[in-house]
Amino acid sequence: KLGNETAKAELGRAAWKLFHTTFARFPDKPTPEESTALAAYIHLFQRLYPCGECAGHFRTILDKYPPQVSSRSAAAAWGCHVHNEVNKSLNKEIFDCSKIGDFYDCGCADGDDEPTS
Ligand code: FAD
Repeated sequence: KLGNETAKAELGRAAWKLFHTTFARFPDKPTPEESTALAAYIHLFQRLYPCGECAGHFRTILDKYPPQVSSRSAAAAWGCHVHNEVNKSLNKEIFDCSKIGDFYDCGCADGDDEPTS
């Protein structure tokens, strides 16, 4: 049976949006526990990602590029990099990671409050 490419692409866009917005809101100076939580979240995101073929591909990317969880900017740059690795494998345009700064806005009305604080 052919997969449903439209549904797969829609899931991907939703997942990437959540993934990058989570990094954009991660603390600048995380506690060790916050860093551990983000690394666990990323590994579980890969393991439980509903498209099995995608999860398999992403696993090899995570093996090559372990999650960077030492700060907000490290996490955001890492997220951009691994998304570009997926873009490459799908022959999509490479995103300019220097523009990641304000691209992912959570729409939260509470200024710069961090979700973990
Ligand atoms: P998407 O790649 O979904 O990107 C959405 C938007 O994010 C773009 O329009 C752009 O504004 C922005 N963006 C693009 N690149 C970056 C970047 N590097 N950093 C930050 N923002 C960026 N599909 C498959 O067919 N096969 C797979 O194996 C596969 N593996 C996947 C693995 C994961 C973990 C995820 C989350 C998705 C995977 N997908 C896979 C789906 C695929 O990556 C796309 O989401 C889908 O094809 C829709 O692509 P799109 O062109 O709309 O843009």
